[in-house]
Amino acid sequence: MKLKAKLRLALGFLFVVILLLGGLGAWYLQKLSQEAQGVLKDNYISLEYARTMRGIIDENSWKSEDFQSFNQALFQQEQNITEPGEGESTRQVRSHFNAFRTTRDSTRIGLINKQLNTIVQLNMQSIFQKNEQVKKTADEIYSYLVFIATFCALIAFSFIINFPRYISEPIQQLTEGLREITRKNYEPRLGVERNDELGEMAKAFNQMAQKLDEYEHSSLARVLFEKRRTETIINQMNDAIIGLDEHNHLLFINSVAATMLGLDAVQIVGRYAPDIALKNDLLRSLLNDEPTAKPLKIFANERESYFSKETFEVTNDEKRLGQVIVLKNITPFHDLDLAKTNFIATISHELKTPISSIKMSLKLLENDRIGELNDEQKLLVTQIQEDSQRLLKITGELLDLSQVETGNLQLNFRNVSASEIVTPAVEALQFFASQKQIDIQVQIPSTLPLVQADSDKTTWVLLNFLSNAIRHSPEKSIIEVEVKPNSKANYLEFSVKDLGKGIDPKYQQRVFERYFQVPSNGQSKAGTGLGLAISKEFIEAQKGNIGVESEIGLGSRFWFQLPTA
Ligand code: ADP
Repeated sequence: MKLKAKLRLALGFLFVVILLLGGLGAWYLQKLSQEAQGVLKDNYISLEYARTMRGIIDENSWKSEDFQSFNQALFQQEQNITEPGEGESTRQVRSHFNAFRTTRDSTRIGLINKQLNTIVQLNMQSIFQKNEQVKKTADEIYSYLVFIATFCALIAFSFIINFPRYISEPIQQLTEGLREITRKNYEPRLGVERNDELGEMAKAFNQMAQKLDEYEHSSLARVLFEKRRTETIINQMNDAIIGLDEHNHLLFINSVAATMLGLDAVQIVGRYAPDIALKNDLLRSLLNDEPTAKPLKIFANERESYFSKETFEVTNDEKRLGQVIVLKNITPFHDLDLAKTNFIATISHELKTPISSIKMSLKLLENDRIGELNDEQKLLVTQIQEDSQRLLKITGELLDLSQVETGNLQLNFRNVSASEIVTPAVEALQFFASQKQIDIQVQIPSTLPLVQADSDKTTWVLLNFLSNAIRHSPEKSIIEVEVKPNSKANYLEFSVKDLGKGIDPKYQQRVFERYFQVPSNGQSKAGTGLGLAISKEFIEAQKGNIGVESEIGLGSRFWFQLPTA
């Protein structure tokens, strides 16, 4: 049955109960009132007539109005005969009264009184009986009404107790079920025994929970499948990958990373990474946010391997979700680079001997003892000399670079004065400067502290600065070579300033990269692009700094700083 029909039935029942109690009450009241009316009509009026007749007898004046009043009361009494024996007594009163009216015999009065007494007694008796009857009826009505009211009250009470529960219990179950669903627990089901709207609601809820359960399980299975697939991909990668959440707890670590770190992936996943790093130096250096320029040399895959570290911040709507650390295995590139460096070192080394012998032969050619050269031949010899000098410079630079790259750079530190570094460089290039009528002005204060440096390598750097400055300066210009202490006097700064075309700011840092040359609008690019890169390596190997300040059209100022002794 539908809930609506049940509600209607319950309220209808209460309505019928109210009607029944009201109707019964009204009916019983009506019945009581009728019985009371009966007493009034049947007996009380007769007593009144008898009292009127007795009053006239007691007055005993017997005027004609008294006869008339007596006759009228007797007539009314004759119309109201209700009790057995009352009719006989009334007839006796009538006959005695008629006889008294004609004879005035006073004995008749005594007989009338006697019969009136009988009438009064009969009516009094009847009143008493009827009163008893009314009382009995009232008691009966009371019992019936109490019984019916108790019965109805019990039913209504049971309604009051059961009906709200009947409605609210399934709603409560539904609310609880919905709460569980919001907690992602799709297990609970509601009872569907009922045939009403609440039963239908429970059925709909169960269907919904079932569907959600199926969806959750299917999407969970899909997510788990995708997770496993991603984990397999990450695990099979040659690079070491470590994932951290926003609170630095380890989310995942692939087998390469786990092997490299010497950790058991199963045991450490979910743990706070800095805690693990306390006992693991490599992980500590990986968690360190500072980017590492040099590749990390780690023993992995049963050999020394090289890894470059990259850190990716994982963010969503500007909220940090964690980070992924990737150690790229660059061992193959490193091996190739090493092969290239060795190749360059071998070639440049092998070239040095024939070039030196060419230079020697040229020197001999210049000598008159072998034979006088004509002007044309002299010019050719000069050109060959210049080219072989350039070749020697290039092979020298390549050799230096290979030394730097293989880590075989040998530095001979000693305490040197600034002029010990500057003078040989300036003297070596004075000739080339004068060819372009360039004036090299040197400023070295006499009271400078010594620096701790490899004088050959440092002079080489200054030579490189100076030869670049001469190459890029216009004719008849000035080059300033200056040495000064820095503000804290713990470094000496060597600088070479020219009035050349300057360097575009976007290239100013790149000039220190290997093989980099500033794009030159089709002009020939003499040189290798290695000089400044090697200079940087030489200076940094001596714990110094190197840099450039330049403005297009105004010139450049290359500088390096070395720690004082
Ligand atoms: P290179 O052998 O090409 O000179 P370097 O490493 O010495 O190699 O210099 C790199 C590049 O920096 C050069 O190609 C040049 O374009 C630029 N450069 C170096 N010194 C100067 C300078 N004094 N003025 C302008 N450009 C310069």
